[in-house]
Amino acid sequence: MKHSILERLTESVGGCSFRADEPMSAHTTFRIGGAAALFCLPETPEALIALLSACRREGVKHMIVGKGSNLLFSDRGFDGAVISTCAMDRVVPEGTRVRAECGALLSRVSVIAAEANLAGLEFAHGIPGTVGGAVFMNAGAYDGEMSQVAESARILFGDRIEEVPAEKLRFGYRYSALQENGGIVLSVIFSLVPGKKEESFRLIRDLDARRREKQPLDRGSAGSFFKRPKDGFAGALIEQAGLKGVSVGGAQVSPKHAGFIVNNGNATCEDVLKLKDLVIRAVREKSGVELETEVRLAGDM
Ligand SMILES: Cc1cc2nc3c(=O)[nH]c(=O)nc-3n(C[C@H](O)[C@H](O)[C@H](O)COP(=O)(O)OP(=O)(O)OC[C@H]3O[C@@H](n4cnc5c(N)ncnc54)[C@H](O)[C@@H]3O)c2cc1C
Repeated sequence: MKHSILERLTESVGGCSFRADEPMSAHTTFRIGGAAALFCLPETPEALIALLSACRREGVKHMIVGKGSNLLFSDRGFDGAVISTCAMDRVVPEGTRVRAECGALLSRVSVIAAEANLAGLEFAHGIPGTVGGAVFMNAGAYDGEMSQVAESARILFGDRIEEVPAEKLRFGYRYSALQENGGIVLSVIFSLVPGKKEESFRLIRDLDARRREKQPLDRGSAGSFFKRPKDGFAGALIEQAGLKGVSVGGAQVSPKHAGFIVNNGNATCEDVLKLKDLVIRAVREKSGVELETEVRLAGDM
């Protein structure tokens, strides 16, 4: 990005902090990714709207990220503006509902709900993403998913803000209409049920323990790399194909959970992509199943 454009952008938008040449490895749970020409942290929806219109005016390509926990970011980085939602993170319980801004972490929202004696978000505590990323992905775990608790979402389409009821988000397995319509989630209303704080916290502790036991949480990753196929589980199919523990460069099929590709410290995006292709080929040959990636590729490829 030209220096003059970068300067005009950063000077014309208030309520937003900026970092030039920011390594995306610092903003993805995979700990992979080259530099973003500009990394932006708007603090309010108004600042986000001003930033987006400045990007359009200046012809700067841009992308939205939450916690980067479902992203494989390119080694080449991104010659544009990466807009992080993480500074927009207010969470307010209102009766049996909780309104949460897009950048709030699910772990925090589920704790605030439990503290308010509201049940229903315990399943989300261990998913290391933001509310916006979770609704975009219809994230879920342990029989719960966003579609069951999201009542509506405030969404930005261009310059227009709409309160969109959950039905119109067309949730499916790791799918929402946002993946096609380009809407940006500003906040979400979760509809919960009266519960008991002690029971919610017990459930949260129990589910987190199950996660720690099964998942390689000590390594960089983006969670399950592949979607669950119609028949069976990706992890089991990968294990049957003899690939548990197999590495390409610093990327490895986790010896703890074959559905995860982990970064052993120095993995590149290129390593992960080569390993992904190897896994897809081997599973196709062994069981005839075509695995699809759940993790989303981002940046300049
Ligand atoms: C250890 C580990 C365990 C995981 N376990 C689970 C699990 O149990 N279940 C599960 O479903 N996932 C799981 N994940 C994956 C990931 O945490 C979820 O997909 C999460 O919802 C992504 O949120 P995020 O904020 O990190 O989004 P990001 O990864 O930052 O972004 C993902 C996509 O959402 C878009 N996006 C982000 N914010 C917005 C917004 N406000 N408006 C519109 N689009 C937006 C981005 O552009 C991008 O395309 C796991 C990941 C890890 C690392």
